[in-house]
Amino acid sequence: MAAEIQPQPQARKPCLLSKIEAFQEVVSTAMIIPKEDGVISLSEDRAIRVWLKRDSGQYWPSVHHTMPSSCSCMSFNPETRRLSVGMDTGVICEFILSEDYNKITPACTYQAHQGKVTVVLFVLEMEWLLSTGQDKNFTWHCSESGQQLGTYRTTAWVSGLQFDVETRHAFVGDQSGQVTILKLEQDSCGLVTTFKGHTGNVTALCWDPVQRVLFSGSSDHSIIMWDIGGRKGTAIELQGHNDKVQGLCYASHTRQLISCSSDGGIVIWNMDVKRQETPEWLDSDSCQKCEQPFFWNFKQMWDSKKIGLRQHHCRKCGQAVCGKCSSKRSTIPLMGFEFEVRVCDSCHESITDEDRAPTATFHDSKHNIVYMHYEPTTGNLLTSGSDKVIKVREQMLVFPLKADRNRCGIRVYQGFELTPIYNIITDLSILFCEFVTSYKLKCCNFLKNAAQMSY
Ligand SMILES: [Zn+2]
Ligand SMILES: [Zn+2]
Repeated sequence: MAAEIQPQPQARKPCLLSKIEAFQEVVSTAMIIPKEDGVISLSEDRAIRVWLKRDSGQYWPSVHHTMPSSCSCMSFNPETRRLSVGMDTGVICEFILSEDYNKITPACTYQAHQGKVTVVLFVLEMEWLLSTGQDKNFTWHCSESGQQLGTYRTTAWVSGLQFDVETRHAFVGDQSGQVTILKLEQDSCGLVTTFKGHTGNVTALCWDPVQRVLFSGSSDHSIIMWDIGGRKGTAIELQGHNDKVQGLCYASHTRQLISCSSDGGIVIWNMDVKRQETPEWLDSDSCQKCEQPFFWNFKQMWDSKKIGLRQHHCRKCGQAVCGKCSSKRSTIPLMGFEFEVRVCDSCHESITDEDRAPTATFHDSKHNIVYMHYEPTTGNLLTSGSDKVIKVREQMLVFPLKADRNRCGIRVYQGFELTPIYNIITDLSILFCEFVTSYKLKCCNFLKNAAQMSY
């Protein structure tokens, strides 16, 4: 049989476009200004800086504003050039940047929290300023009147916050590892549901309003894709980092998820791939291949005079097998395993080279990543590192779409063998019924998945 040439991802390295190296301190937050070759940075020396790219190709500071205390987070709205900066004192300061980005003007201050502001998010459509703090409060202010509209007590410090304008849902990820979904009204809010899946803190959240998918990253190294638009309660785990997930961005036009971890790893996930469900792990008292008893099966051990063996599971077929019958390892990207995992001998034979074509790419930024920002209009990616350097990289690679692989199905990226137990606390139907059902992903049943992942 003639060998078939498979399309391979264009695995070129994300090309470094520019560096900003003038910092004495680590840049805690930074973002690319859309349509303007500029960057806004917030660094540990309490300075807000705006950098504009000059004809030489170098970024030069056009604004340098020192704040009275340390700044922890910011939100920038390009249409109004409104910059909201959260501080360690609990105050949020609002500024307006001039049209040429050469001037910064204070506009308003909010005494929003008792402790450090952990996340701030300005929503132009609602004229709302959402924020969370170390006082465990989630609050929202009217950005026109400056008045606090409402507050909600969270279970732990919040480290991730996203908002869906269409349905007015806020997604709040906290240090306990859960994501709380709140429905906001003008001056009140209701708890819709809680997502529990991570075994560590939620460190980053990313909401894709088109597919209606929420991605959560965690200090447990994993990312979970909560498919709300699919309306079936599907939660898919993506395992590709060896350290705390530090940032998540979704490029909806190329359907790529970009994630970074504090060890400098950047993973680009192709989310436009037909994926199969991972199998449920089967229960058996003996190897389902060679029928040798497992070590707890005393009766068969005695009857057959055989020594009990340790049980393993084939990641492809889910059968309970002994070590001898599952001695081989393989990647199974179409089932989400980008790294080699245990498979039984017969499954190993059935996996073709085409099946092994990778669907995520892994890059090393060579510095610990503190913050990441993706700018969709240019496709450029900004990272800020512990080396006190901001790096801007050009558009990340685009996977070729393959007719028989896209638009139908789900995928569990599981690079590692450990997967946490999923648990959805409350009924999702309240949330689902409000969501527009534009979905291309056909998803497996979440609860079924939950059972197989509980190992
Ligand atoms: Zn066996
Ligand atoms: Zn198998």
